[in-house]
Amino acid sequence: MATTAKDLYLGWLRDAHAMEKQALILIDTQIPRMGGFPEMRERLQKHRTETEVQLSQIDQLLTRHGSDASMVKDVAGSAMAGSQALGGLFMGDAPVKGAQTSYTFENYEIATYRSLIAAAELCRDTAAIPVLERILEEEMRMAEWLEGHLDQMTRRLMQGADAMASGGVGF
Ligand code: MG
Ligand code: FE
Repeated sequence: MATTAKDLYLGWLRDAHAMEKQALILIDTQIPRMGGFPEMRERLQKHRTETEVQLSQIDQLLTRHGSDASMVKDVAGSAMAGSQALGGLFMGDAPVKGAQTSYTFENYEIATYRSLIAAAELCRDTAAIPVLERILEEEMRMAEWLEGHLDQMTRRLMQGADAMASGGVGF
């Protein structure tokens, strides 16, 4: 059977659902690794709450179209998030590696929602557009926050490493 524009749109909505599940797993692996960076931990907590709402909203959009989130894709997505979160080579740099991974992930989400908004417009799913635009806005704010904190986090972690290496308490 030929793939229609609507099929593509619904497939991308299911992908977005899997992506948000992946986002929750990623955030949950990162929060306990943010020792010494309380503001990062707080920002992740806030985005976790946003992500839970996003997930249920994508779920509602899918249900309205009589389409359920694909279990197979969701499981595959979850496994991927786990391995990405373990990307850091040694625990000492986990906060910075984690912030880099989060920044990458937010940009992946931004790209996904930009396409989804165009797809919803093309398929005249007008009710979905404000929902998708609001989610995009949250992903952009999270990406901007991370972009604005990576430099400072990196410096603070490195200074902490040197302080520990020279016998100080570090952080
Ligand atoms: Mg998200
Ligand atoms: Fe996000």
